[in-house]
Amino acid sequence: MAAATIWWIRKDFRLADNPALRGALDGGGPVIPLFILDPETEAQLGAAPKWRLHQAISVFGETLGGLDSRIILRRGEALDVLRAVIAETGAARVTWGRQYDAPAKARDTVVKAGLKDDGLEAVSVNTHLLFEPWTIETKTGGPYRVYTPFKNTCFDKADFRDPLAVPGKIPAPDVWPESDALADWRLEAAMNRGGAIVAQYSGVGESAAVARLEDFLEKINDYNDDRDRPAVVGTSRLSENFAWGEISPLSVWHRVREAADTKLDGPRVYLQEIVWREFAYHLLHHYPALPQENWREDWDAFEWRGDNDDTERWRRGMTGITAIDAAMRELYTTGYMHNRMRMLTASLLTKHLMTHWTVGERWFRETLVDWDPASNAMGWQWAAGSGPDASPFFRIFNPDTQRDKFDPKGVYVGRWLGEKARGNPAQEARDFFAAIPKSWDMAISQPYPAPIVDLSEGRKRALAAYQDMKDKRG
Ligand SMILES: Cc1cc2nc3c(=O)[nH]c(=O)nc-3n(C[C@H](O)[C@H](O)[C@H](O)COP(=O)(O)OP(=O)(O)OC[C@H]3O[C@@H](n4cnc5c(N)ncnc54)[C@H](O)[C@@H]3O)c2cc1C
Repeated sequence: MAAATIWWIRKDFRLADNPALRGALDGGGPVIPLFILDPETEAQLGAAPKWRLHQAISVFGETLGGLDSRIILRRGEALDVLRAVIAETGAARVTWGRQYDAPAKARDTVVKAGLKDDGLEAVSVNTHLLFEPWTIETKTGGPYRVYTPFKNTCFDKADFRDPLAVPGKIPAPDVWPESDALADWRLEAAMNRGGAIVAQYSGVGESAAVARLEDFLEKINDYNDDRDRPAVVGTSRLSENFAWGEISPLSVWHRVREAADTKLDGPRVYLQEIVWREFAYHLLHHYPALPQENWREDWDAFEWRGDNDDTERWRRGMTGITAIDAAMRELYTTGYMHNRMRMLTASLLTKHLMTHWTVGERWFRETLVDWDPASNAMGWQWAAGSGPDASPFFRIFNPDTQRDKFDPKGVYVGRWLGEKARGNPAQEARDFFAAIPKSWDMAISQPYPAPIVDLSEGRKRALAAYQDMKDKRG
């Protein structure tokens, strides 16, 4: 029998359409599914993503169990762990799905070179995206900086292979290598009492992802109208499943085209949103510092504030601006925030409160179960005005008028602001107060706070600072 292959699982916890798994099976020998908690992975993950990783591993372990396989867990430097498991099992090959953030790329380069030096076969493939970021180029051969032409090129090239089928069997080794116990990694610990609450709102695993997609396909024709209304579930909610690779974008693309008429606005716009995710990875690949540094250098001269007391009130949903507080509480309670509300909360922080976008980016990284290194960084730089194809700084959202437009009956805001519910708060509002740390010292019975910033004054201050930055540049 052929030697074993290690299938190094990263953010691709799925059986369907998984080229890394297929590559492992192609070796013809036993397959050892391995997840490594390496320093690069651990350093990037905030409390909610760590909690979500625990759930992804746990559910995927059960899925593999259904095929008489299992997931082996090890902690340490990736190359050291791989070498140890190879020594224990006699594996001759390693396959994995590529990741595109700078720390992962640096790690994978070292791993590939090391394994090749050892005389092993190391196969990396695309499991995460429709297009590898470097395969989409402008006519002159460079990266795109603007979404619309990028999207047009993606649509022109969107002639994808069929999704790969779920394997009927994953050959097991005669003897399994040792595995750490998932609980010993304590990935859930930082969530404290919030974990059990987030769990009620989360949809973990491949079957949950497929169910979500099928539910969404029932209403995809309304997507273009409903996607901006935070009170209704008018979007697919697949972001957490994409983030952890529990469904492949290629499978989603095919299924949408099969089930819907993509000439209609809803399905067409939905596919365009999937391409926004591709655009984020395109930018991250070509500009690895996207999560840390202004994409437009001019913004280095802007008078950003660092972390501050207003930001703490923003984090806690205590700004006194109803739409913002509702959204920040949705985030803390569910690990998710509606896209329009992400735009509004990011705009308020970076513009009215003039706080550096990296401060907000870090809080989202801490609290989102769908945290994604590319989409989060792009979203924040877009909102702040410092990114490619960004919202111009002078276009400053007014959260009150946005609330009146997109939540006209106050359903979303009412759901989350328990203090305003006259003694009859919604379950969501109660969940928020049950999830937050005791140290925040907040109670549903307290009066709702006054606004921390006058929206019109804040707008003027931000525009003056923007003018100042432009004047400095001359
Ligand atoms: C400040 C800010 C931070 C963000 N951080 C993240 C993040 O960490 N992780 C994340 O997945 N998305 C992020 N987004 C993008 C977007 O808000 C979410 O992808 C979307 O709300 C997820 O909900 P959904 O799956 O129901 O989306 P749907 O409307 O159903 O869209 C389908 C898919 O398309 C992709 N998509 C949609 N909108 C965008 C977008 N603007 N940018 C990139 N991809 C998009 C997502 O993969 C999404 O799951 C951020 C946006 C902003 C403004």
